[in-house]
Amino acid sequence: MEAYLDNSATTRCSRRVQETVLRMMDCDYGNPSSLHKKGMEAEAHVRKAAAEIARTLRVSEKEIIFTSGGTESNNLALIGAAMANRRSGNRLITTQVEHSSVRNTMAYLEKQGFEVIYLPVDKDGILLLDSLREAVNGQTVLVSIMQANNETGALQPVAEAASIVRQINPAALVHADAVQSYGKMRIRPKKEGIDLLSVSGHKIHGPKGVGFLYIREKTKITPLSFGGGQQSGMRSGTHNVPGIAGLGEAAKEAYEGLEEKTAHLYSLKDRFLEKTACLEGVTVNGRTGRDSAPHIVSLSIEGVRSEVLLHALEEYNIYVSAGSACASNHRAPSQTLQAMKLKPELADSTLRFSFSVYTAAEEIDYAAAKLAEIVPRLRRYVRR
Ligand code: PLP
Repeated sequence: MEAYLDNSATTRCSRRVQETVLRMMDCDYGNPSSLHKKGMEAEAHVRKAAAEIARTLRVSEKEIIFTSGGTESNNLALIGAAMANRRSGNRLITTQVEHSSVRNTMAYLEKQGFEVIYLPVDKDGILLLDSLREAVNGQTVLVSIMQANNETGALQPVAEAASIVRQINPAALVHADAVQSYGKMRIRPKKEGIDLLSVSGHKIHGPKGVGFLYIREKTKITPLSFGGGQQSGMRSGTHNVPGIAGLGEAAKEAYEGLEEKTAHLYSLKDRFLEKTACLEGVTVNGRTGRDSAPHIVSLSIEGVRSEVLLHALEEYNIYVSAGSACASNHRAPSQTLQAMKLKPELADSTLRFSFSVYTAAEEIDYAAAKLAEIVPRLRRYVRR
């Protein structure tokens, strides 16, 4: 038996995506910039993918820029917006619970002379909107808020935040990191007041190393790479045609029957929470209802270090993350859990379980049963 419960780290490519990628590599391998038929065919695949994605967001395909993934999309959004709009102000605003690709980009921009404000969250990891109201001023260039937190599944009130920003400073741009929310919920950037939106392919059963940034028409952004002027000069370099076509397919697939898929994910989440609720010394971080992301559960397991438990579960082919994949790589304390004021010893004992549409109820039951078996054993070991 195997239980892959690390879908927020990455997902399995869907069969349709695999077939699309292979076709691009095998047959439609032209360079979209070439003037001949082979190039035009490849270009058509890129346009088709942009159109599929644009349809899921109800935006124009011209507003989709392909990147190498969530990290690059976040970098392009933040650095691109900050640099292009430097004359209108110096203030950037974000939250204390962002992914490292936003946090570290903001730290870079601070070194470049920008003033960055990191907004606090409540105990559930939800942005305090009053702090946003206080932070936005006439000097504000950009506000970046993630939609779904990658460690806890907390959903941020991005639309409300955007409306507050607009009331105070209509010129300020709003960026949303939608890496964990895209494909899990309907997103309407134009309705929600979002100017820039980052998405990654490998979180939605698409290929790794590909993603996109939605850039609302007429938004001023400075490119980060220069060269042949592909993608209207916004992102030079030969298109990753297999990745882009795969991403287009993944986006289309994710939004087919979204309601049933989301219901399945919530049922997995409920099942897992129900089966682990009875475990002694186990607490859930953040909200768990329909106001949280459907695919993420964060549990703190008192008295057992997350890394130890992660590897103990691995022995049974159960794959999870400690806090978040990125934080565990660097063995750094989770900034998100710190911002939620979780006690350090509990933050150190936190595991993230994340599901996908391919997760079976048996995987949930197996993981919950093994947790119940392993945790008391590890606690005995620690006490000795
Ligand atoms: N933003 C969030 C919220 C994420 O969870 C991740 C990946 O874990 C990223 C950005 C980075 O995406 P990528 O792995 O495509 O660079």
